[in-house]
Amino acid sequence: MLHAIDTWHDKAACKGPESYLFYPPSTPERRDERDERERRAKSICAECRVRRACLDHALRIREQHGIWGGLTETERRPLLDAAS
Ligand code: SF4
Repeated sequence: MLHAIDTWHDKAACKGPESYLFYPPSTPERRDERDERERRAKSICAECRVRRACLDHALRIREQHGIWGGLTETERRPLLDAAS
């Protein structure tokens, strides 16, 4: 009998209708709109049980966009620089 591979992606709290919060929209976004979008995304990350694995993955692949593990790309940059 085959079993599905259980990965951290399967447990991501950001799956579903609010996944759009984790990336900038395709249309221009005001600073206050971005701040609110990021605040809402981070509040989901704060409750996510795979946050560490998500952040580790983003750092490992040097993800350039979006909120991963509760950090924006700008917030992840110092971690990447420190690891270089
Ligand atoms: S930590 Fe945030 S971005 Fe990562 S899987 Fe969880 S909810 Fe999604």
